[in-house]
Amino acid sequence: MRKDGKGKVFLIGAGPGDPGLITVKGKRHLEMCDAVIYDNLLASELVISIPYQTEKYHVGKKAGVHPVPQDEINKLMLKLAREGKCVARLKGSDPLIFGRGGEEARFLKENDIPFEIITGVTSGIAGPAYAGIPCTDRVLASSVVFVTGHKASDKYKSSVAWEWLAKAKNCTVVIYMGVGEIANIVEKLIDNGMDPETPAAIVERGTYPSQRNVITTLCLLPKKVASENVKPPALFVIGEVCTLQPWLEWFVDKPLLGVRVMVTRPADQSMELYAELRELGAEPMPYPTIATEAWHDEEGWEALRNSPDKNSWLIFTSENGVRYFFQQFANRLGDVRYLSRFKIAAIGSATSRSLAEHNLEPDFIPSKATSEVLTAEMKKLTDVKEATVIRVRGNLAGDTIEKGLPEVGVKVIPLTTYRTFHPDWPDGLKEKLFETPPHAILFTSASTVKGMNHNLSDDEIKQITSGAKIFSLGPMVSDTLSKNGFAITAKAEKHDLEGLIATLLEHYQKNQSK
Ligand code: SAH
Repeated sequence: MRKDGKGKVFLIGAGPGDPGLITVKGKRHLEMCDAVIYDNLLASELVISIPYQTEKYHVGKKAGVHPVPQDEINKLMLKLAREGKCVARLKGSDPLIFGRGGEEARFLKENDIPFEIITGVTSGIAGPAYAGIPCTDRVLASSVVFVTGHKASDKYKSSVAWEWLAKAKNCTVVIYMGVGEIANIVEKLIDNGMDPETPAAIVERGTYPSQRNVITTLCLLPKKVASENVKPPALFVIGEVCTLQPWLEWFVDKPLLGVRVMVTRPADQSMELYAELRELGAEPMPYPTIATEAWHDEEGWEALRNSPDKNSWLIFTSENGVRYFFQQFANRLGDVRYLSRFKIAAIGSATSRSLAEHNLEPDFIPSKATSEVLTAEMKKLTDVKEATVIRVRGNLAGDTIEKGLPEVGVKVIPLTTYRTFHPDWPDGLKEKLFETPPHAILFTSASTVKGMNHNLSDDEIKQITSGAKIFSLGPMVSDTLSKNGFAITAKAEKHDLEGLIATLLEHYQKNQSK
């Protein structure tokens, strides 16, 4: 909610596909708004990174359903803004280029709703740029024209001056929304005097790792669209600048180029992973099957506060445990010196790394990263007898430690700092999963496997997993995958994210096919 309690709408351009192309300002507003109204043509990572509690409204086209009419979108913006909310109206690429952002802004103005426009990179510039085509060039093109190909064959509805464009010299013509109309467009341009041999390009899914570029000539465009089975979103670029493409091509030579990788781990812990996959050329598909949120365990914190200042231990068994512990610690106890009374035990390298971020080094790490081994080995420590142990945990953690350590006289007090749940996917994401199914799926914990059926039916899971390669992070995950009937393609040798990515890479380097 805004400080003055008044609603405001931010019309934000999301960029055309690569989530890195949203502006810093756009991202900032997306993260702090109360509600987001979003379209289809934008990166799922942007949608999934909006905080879980933010209201989300998908108004893009859905298969078999009419798109939400513009006046309903307008009404929704108005309603949310009148409730005093800060609303992000997230639109593909740039909000004002063939995006009806101007109409939406005018509607807001007429209704006295303040707004800001946060411009975005339009696909007509970014798509060609990722293909290696500059829209202008000192020698080859001194102007660029963006036109819509929508309804080009309808002489009453198309107001594009095709006759004039056909004669433009040293000009690049970029056509949006033209896939269904390309034969008519080409005919109009050639009939009006454009050279049929003018260089031309098709840019499909521009800036996505699956971007396809076809370099051809004007007269061959319709044939190429058919033979290459070009599908929207796609652009046509017509002009001499297309001849520069072989020199300027750069979005190639990435080891996982075009591989769609479904990531099932919690979204807020996957931002680095998504970015890393993108660096490698893959298209991350963020479909978290689990999520976590803070849990307030008053009794546990009270026990921590009253722990004896000698012979007390803190046990951390997960990265999440550490993260949520310190989020709450700041408010509840504040002074970090309070922790000096505790010895610290930790399971797993990720847990130790998280502790290191808080400048803490575990006093004890079991020889194997399991609760059973930690319990068995801690029991043997001489100074643990009669100790008080605060066992930091999530609500779903097992009770091996709670049951095992009291056998040697240790007092174990659970402190639950977070809850794991299966999140609903934001509207529109599930459709995308079936439109462009994953080539690979990453499972990083047993609960990510179990969470698959929260958003998908058994048949849908079968459909998605049978066509994909399945990668497992560790033995517990593999076990759960096998029990659930999933065929594992490869298991990570090193049981962490780094190991999992290495396995994925190795697999695709050995097997060229997706
Ligand atoms: N406001 C958007 C355009 C919306 S109109 C912008 O600034 O780009 C939708 C059309 O945009 C599509 O039919 C297609 O022609 C083009 N488009 C959008 N995203 C695209 C992409 N990633 N690659 C190629 N064309 C894209």
